Amino acid sequence: MKNVAVIGAGTMGNGIAHTFAQCGFKVQMIDVNESALKKGIDTITKNLDRMVSREKISEDDKSATLNNITTYTDLVEGVEYASLVVEAATENVNLKLKIFRELDDACPEDTILATNTSSISITQIGAVTSRPEMVIGMHFMNPVPIMKLVEIIRGYNTSDEVTKIIMDLSRQLGKVPVEVNDYPGFVANRILMPMLNESIETLYNGVAGVVEIDTVMKLGMAHPMGPLQLADFIGLDVCLSILEVMNDGFKNPKYAPCPLLVNMVRAGKLGVKTGEGFYDYSESRKAETVSTQFI
Ligand code: NAD
Repeated sequence: MKNVAVIGAGTMGNGIAHTFAQCGFKVQMIDVNESALKKGIDTITKNLDRMVSREKISEDDKSATLNNITTYTDLVEGVEYASLVVEAATENVNLKLKIFRELDDACPEDTILATNTSSISITQIGAVTSRPEMVIGMHFMNPVPIMKLVEIIRGYNTSDEVTKIIMDLSRQLGKVPVEVNDYPGFVANRILMPMLNESIETLYNGVAGVVEIDTVMKLGMAHPMGPLQLADFIGLDVCLSILEVMNDGFKNPKYAPCPLLVNMVRAGKLGVKTGEGFYDYSESRKAETVSTQFI
């Protein structure tokens, strides 16, 4: 496996492209948005610079990694030689089904189609292709170059052979793959999202402020980051989409998204990526709390 196409150059896509490129794969990073590609390359460059300054990699490693990445706005052109596609576009079921139909038409017939979806059914995605046995979940964690876990999700029809190839490939990337079955939220988000939602509900109910909630969880439960800050890092729109998929999939009100989360997403306050969520990430007010204006 030499050529890996990554669909989406956002938070996860650029991290996935970085990780494959640093391991010597030729990466075609594809996004519909030219400025997202530019921002993705800038982020990868910044992250590589940090690794060079910490003496984790050399200047030559940095150049080789960047040279391994080519960017495309055209999906058909970008996937032409791909042995594997890892889709990391926006978390929206209709968008993903559309992309997988296009991938099925455009990719060579032995190309494995993986998705980094946080919650959408791998079985449903596989069903819109002519190769459901070759469709699999490859759920990287954020930030991808650093986090060790990859949740490998087998759809109902995913073959043993494809699962083994992707488990082995994840180890080759220096990651620890864990195999799970295809139910809403899989394992990681089924456990994480109700906790994040409950933290938002706690804020919404006026029990405590943003910093207080995060401090309780950091100092009391030894979490490296508070749940509200983590939600900002994941993206509040991504959190909302995952909760909606679980709420819909299990028909259990315990997964219903908190109204404050819904309001913040409607207001375009999506966390780090828009510069504001539960904290303010603008240059002047780095990570200062702004939550009270939403209550
Ligand atoms: P993001 O909003 O940062 O980036 C999504 C990118 O997809 C954007 O650059 C957008 O232009 C691009 N895009 C949209 N439609 C496209 C298309 N048709 N073709 C190509 N590119 C397209 O989102 P993200 O946080 O990187 O999430 C991407 C995926 O990864 C989602 O499925 C999400 O659930 C999953 N995920 C996110 C996290 C996280 O912490 N953010 C963690 C694990 C998994």
